[in-house]
Amino acid sequence: MTTDAPRLEIKDICCAFDGRRVVDNVSLRINRGQVTCLLGPSGCGKSTTLRVIAGVEMQDSGEIYVDGKLICDTAHRVPPERREIGLMFQDFALFPHLSVADNVGFGLKTGGKAERRARIEELLERVDLKRFIDGFPHQLSGGEQQRVALARALAPKPKIMLMDEPFSGLDNRLRDGIRDETLTILKEQDTAVLLVTHEPEEAMRMADEIALMRDGRIVQQGAPYNVYTRPMDRAAVAFFSDAN
Ligand code: ADP
Ligand code: MG
Repeated sequence: MTTDAPRLEIKDICCAFDGRRVVDNVSLRINRGQVTCLLGPSGCGKSTTLRVIAGVEMQDSGEIYVDGKLICDTAHRVPPERREIGLMFQDFALFPHLSVADNVGFGLKTGGKAERRARIEELLERVDLKRFIDGFPHQLSGGEQQRVALARALAPKPKIMLMDEPFSGLDNRLRDGIRDETLTILKEQDTAVLLVTHEPEEAMRMADEIALMRDGRIVQQGAPYNVYTRPMDRAAVAFFSDAN
């Protein structure tokens, strides 16, 4: 398809559990190197939206396109491992029996041994954990494990990165640095990012676009400054003010 197609496009995605629609006609377009932040109260359907895009949950209707190519509708479905989508969830655990290097290298299928090792070293350098390269997850703090998980998600250079509150396990001192570094790497790789966060400040800092979600629907979407200065309704105002 054309190269000017959005890197990720979802169209009219619906997903119901027990007859209740938790994702209700959600459409989004994210270009290469762009970050869209999905904001909204707990239970509004953010994680389910990400799970549908990742392919670990099946939508009831709607389509998903990557670079203009249909990867999923109700008749046709590319399996999760072939979607070139990276996942970074808050509780995304490392493999306890694998070294830090092997965890980071887990999704690296291509290249020779030396090339893979160089990529692992580069990524661990960037998350400031190269000294732990031959260590094991249980030797690391929670925040350090989180940074290894980030390196692991970034390693195969996914076209799309889905992040569900990936920074909330980090202490404040580390958070800004890791957040900025992650963003730099993703932008360099031209990755389209869909980031769920409950922190408006994080969204203002990272997003090219903000999408506000409520009861399964996207109720407002736009540049962070516009959403912040012209919130559509009282719930949007409350959302931004709650954080402070
Ligand atoms: P958020 O991430 O915005 O907090 P979720 O997408 O996790 O919201 O959940 C949206 C709604 O769907 C919630 O009411 C949740 O309980 C429900 N839900 C999510 N996954 C399932 C499931 N597998 N089975 C039944 N209900 C689910
Ligand atoms: Mg969630």
